[in-house]
Amino acid sequence: MTKIKIKTELERILPKKNILSAIEECYVYSQDGTNGLDSPKLPDVIVFPETIEEVQSIMKFANAHKVPVIARGAGTNLVGACIPMRGGIVINFTKMNKIIDINKTNMTAKVQPGVIVGELQNRVSEQGLFFPPDPSNLKVSTIGGAIAQSAGGPKTFKYGTTKDYILALKVVLADGTILECGTNTIKNATGYHLEQLFIGSEGTLGIVVEATLKLIPKPESTKVVMAYFDDIDSATASVTNMIDSNIYPSTIDFMNNNTLKTVEKFYPAGLLTDKEAALIIEIDGFESSFDTQISRLKNVLITTGASNIVISQTKEEQEKIWTARRASFAATAKLKPDVVTNDVIVPRENISALVKGINSICEKYGLIICIVGHIGDGNIHPQIALDLNNKEEVRAYENAKKELYDLTLNLGGTLSAEHGIGLDKKAFLANAIPAETLDYMKKMKMVFDPNNILNPEKIFDI
Ligand SMILES: Cc1cc2nc3c(=O)[nH]c(=O)nc-3n(C[C@H](O)[C@H](O)[C@H](O)COP(=O)(O)OP(=O)(O)OC[C@H]3O[C@@H](n4cnc5c(N)ncnc54)[C@H](O)[C@@H]3O)c2cc1C
Repeated sequence: MTKIKIKTELERILPKKNILSAIEECYVYSQDGTNGLDSPKLPDVIVFPETIEEVQSIMKFANAHKVPVIARGAGTNLVGACIPMRGGIVINFTKMNKIIDINKTNMTAKVQPGVIVGELQNRVSEQGLFFPPDPSNLKVSTIGGAIAQSAGGPKTFKYGTTKDYILALKVVLADGTILECGTNTIKNATGYHLEQLFIGSEGTLGIVVEATLKLIPKPESTKVVMAYFDDIDSATASVTNMIDSNIYPSTIDFMNNNTLKTVEKFYPAGLLTDKEAALIIEIDGFESSFDTQISRLKNVLITTGASNIVISQTKEEQEKIWTARRASFAATAKLKPDVVTNDVIVPRENISALVKGINSICEKYGLIICIVGHIGDGNIHPQIALDLNNKEEVRAYENAKKELYDLTLNLGGTLSAEHGIGLDKKAFLANAIPAETLDYMKKMKMVFDPNNILNPEKIFDI
């Protein structure tokens, strides 16, 4: 179907002000947060629905004419999950961004998919509640995107990821049918958990138009401890020792030496740049418990070989540490024209082998790397600075990536902890998932989307 025809048909469903189709607008929506992946086609039209009924009508039209549909939140994913490989309709959810309800007694929130994660956190926090998933770019990314990518973030160690906070979803299927799955109760053993199927499905099975989220009581306070180490093994050993000592931080994040140096250069935060590794450990709970928690934590860190321990004394000091950690991606981007990242994960006991292995691989291929990660989860983000216009560097990166995945799988891990598969990792999926399982995933896709119009070519090819 031609672009003009698609646009004309969509103008029967949506007000003209909610439709974009100019070439420069289509160009913007042909990309997402991923560096180095180009779309062979521009989308034909971008639409901004305001109601569930509009989404249903768009899907009925698209399905009848086999037009591809790509859902889009803030477009910040890092695996090419929003790239419109076959053109078609991009559904942008910025106009479906309402927090419908926050129920303090039930500790639930009902939201539209375009709600910004950080905004939700702020709003529930006013009522003494907490929504822990944080895709690290929470000031811009949306709940719809977090659900579709199964986002995690720094607080996974204690609180889990997005999948642990979805009670119910309202989903528009490829043919426009509304599927309501899950309940607004905290427990539910009533049939299959179809809502979980859509988490991490990257917009390939259905379009999430409403979500009921589980909330928890907001911890009274938080404190951040930064521990520096002269070697990687001591840093990782301290994670095991914390667990052995029944210390349960909300976050155990990691920065390697090159990250400390790079961040400090562009965002002077007082980081100790001569150290091999640093852990950012956030504890939370009642303030009255902090003396005990900190003293136990300090003991563990000293015994495990921490050479410096800095305990934040004020909110501003805490914020400075977190800003430095969050700035690592942007700071790495300043080392070369481009930056690419990854989100491999291994069982916690193999984290040291993973970090060391990544260092050797990058050294072998002459790549500049800053390593950060949610080390308490076994999840590492190697951030590689390179020039994507330099063919040799790109070849080196591609080879390094293959070796990284082999290493991760050999260490009992998997390809993606929280960014998803998208386009970026689909060539490697068969190495990580047994053939029968992959086959069932494909069969499931065909049940929900027999015409393969929902975000085609993502996760796997049909
Ligand atoms: C600097 C940086 C740091 C990051 N750090 C982390 C991190 O620490 N942890 C982590 O988990 N992630 C991290 N991420 C990645 C993060 O997961 C994504 O950026 C975010 O969750 C995507 O949200 P979005 O609104 O931008 O979604 P988009 O990028 O717009 O979309 C992502 C996917 O969701 C689908 N989608 C969007 N809305 C819907 C909907 N309503 N229904 C169905 N499908 C939909 C899209 O089709 C696409 O497949 C980071 C990203 C950046 C840029």
